[in-house]
Amino acid sequence: EEKRSLSFVEQLVEEDLAEGKNGGRIQTRFPPEPNGYLHIGHAKAICMDFGVAEHYKGVCNLRFDDTNPSKENTEYVENILNDISWLGFRWGSIYYASDYFEKLWDFAVWMIKKGLAYVDEQTSEEIAAQKGTPTTPGTASPYRDRPVEENLALFNKMNTAEAAEGSMVLRAKLDMANPNMHFRDPIMYRIIQIPHHRTGTKWHCYPMYDFAHGQSDYFEGVTHSICTLEFVPHRPLYDRFVDFLKEYDGTADNLHDNRPRQIEFNRLNLTYTVMSKRKLHTLVDEHLVNGWDDPRMPTLCGMRRRGYSPESIRNFIDSIGYTKFDALNDVALLEASVREDLNRKATRVSAVLDPVKLVITNYPDGQTEEMEAVNNPENEADGTHTITFSKNLWIERADFMEEAPRKFFRMTPGKEVRLKNAYIVKCTGCTKDAEGNITEIRAEYDADSKSGMPGADRKVKGTLHWVSADHCLKAEVREYDRLFSIENPSADERDFRELLNPESLTVRTDCYVERYLAEKKPGDYLQFQRTGYFMLDPDTTEGHLVFNKTVGLKDTWAK
Ligand code: ATP
Ligand code: MG
Ligand code: MG
Repeated sequence: EEKRSLSFVEQLVEEDLAEGKNGGRIQTRFPPEPNGYLHIGHAKAICMDFGVAEHYKGVCNLRFDDTNPSKENTEYVENILNDISWLGFRWGSIYYASDYFEKLWDFAVWMIKKGLAYVDEQTSEEIAAQKGTPTTPGTASPYRDRPVEENLALFNKMNTAEAAEGSMVLRAKLDMANPNMHFRDPIMYRIIQIPHHRTGTKWHCYPMYDFAHGQSDYFEGVTHSICTLEFVPHRPLYDRFVDFLKEYDGTADNLHDNRPRQIEFNRLNLTYTVMSKRKLHTLVDEHLVNGWDDPRMPTLCGMRRRGYSPESIRNFIDSIGYTKFDALNDVALLEASVREDLNRKATRVSAVLDPVKLVITNYPDGQTEEMEAVNNPENEADGTHTITFSKNLWIERADFMEEAPRKFFRMTPGKEVRLKNAYIVKCTGCTKDAEGNITEIRAEYDADSKSGMPGADRKVKGTLHWVSADHCLKAEVREYDRLFSIENPSADERDFRELLNPESLTVRTDCYVERYLAEKKPGDYLQFQRTGYFMLDPDTTEGHLVFNKTVGLKDTWAK
């Protein structure tokens, strides 16, 4: 089934397999921090982590990277699980970095005893000022050579309720002159006096990413720890801590056995949006959008609510591929992928978003007919449904012109047009109000031209969608434009909030949709014929339908 060519990541994995590393076992992990919702950037990592495991018949586990209790909670855990399932992936086990707090603590104590770690009581500013630059060595902390016993006592003190945040950190004693800044005595532990979503108040100091991630990979038996490019400079430190771990657990004689390998690929950046969790939090917290699942958000829950299919997201990610340099991907490519997939899936229905009345003057009053409508011309198995035809219809205002140019193939006096799934009608005129707005259009139908009958065969250029005024449902339709008005808001110097597109949401409240839509649910893919793809919104209540526009039929968006 999988057709895409191997990425450089898979090539590296194959080299490892060929060398017999890790006994031919492949184990990956997806490591979200439960401090927000997943976005399409995470989907790129998910497709890689799960894709490699699937391809090589290995396993991909989930690991919640919950080492900073200040922003984490269980609500995020639940939603992350849901989003990964929705994307179509199945994990092996679920782990938490917090499961390893005890083990990591013991390992840190071992490092202290080995003279490889010390407690620093300087402020973070003082520590930062001593770091040096990549070309000049740093300055040693005055606490760097304190005795082991003192370090052990202070490390224990760090893990008490009385320890003040910022008063002490545990640092690895590595190399203050190393050209890789991550080796200049990196912080291993810091004090955080906030209850943890899983361990409560058991711990008062927590391991840093660099002291938790590689070790967690190692504890679980991860063979390939795939992450994004910003971790390239962390890789030597990742490897060094694994070396120490192997010394600690007595497997240092075989440094290559059970050893996770970190491989980095480019982050996904999309035009007209932001992907930083901090910024997404701000958008939600300051009500600049209507929650994490606002259909304008780059979150998976937002995209799901908007009507994007998981397959369209996966196909998009496959199409852009994985590289070793960062780039900005055009969101129009994602939208093209959505259109392509929804064209296969969506049920075709009639909805009039900007209605104007059309009266079929020669159609009998009170008469109705049930017209057959094909659900999806791309898939016969989807069957048909019926739509009621009558004398009084709604059509789109833009489908009528009183004085039309020659190439206007919609409704205009004296010309014929086909009403989809119904009859050919000829426009006979219209009525206007005092301001000149069209209030009603009139037409006559040809009773022999019903769709599917021989009389329907004659050539008529335009086909319009319609709904019957007495047999339709009123609906609210929400249309979306880019969330930001500039292509790369993350690269702009201005506050990103100033760059929001003020017209990213348009709400139409007077739309009419065919009655068949009363049976639809969020998750059902719909095409409003001639308009675009749509999905029912969960804001829908009894008697009040709400639809989201997923994407238009064509890429008409222009700068
Ligand atoms: P932020 O930097 O905004 O806080 P994060 O990367 O820290 O986000 P995590 O929950 O830690 O968020 O990410 C889990 C995994 O998803 C990591 O392996 C990370 O590299 C990957 N990831 C996050 N954002 C992207 C992105 N835009 N493109 C590809 N992978 C990403
Ligand atoms: Mg983060
Ligand atoms: Mg992270």
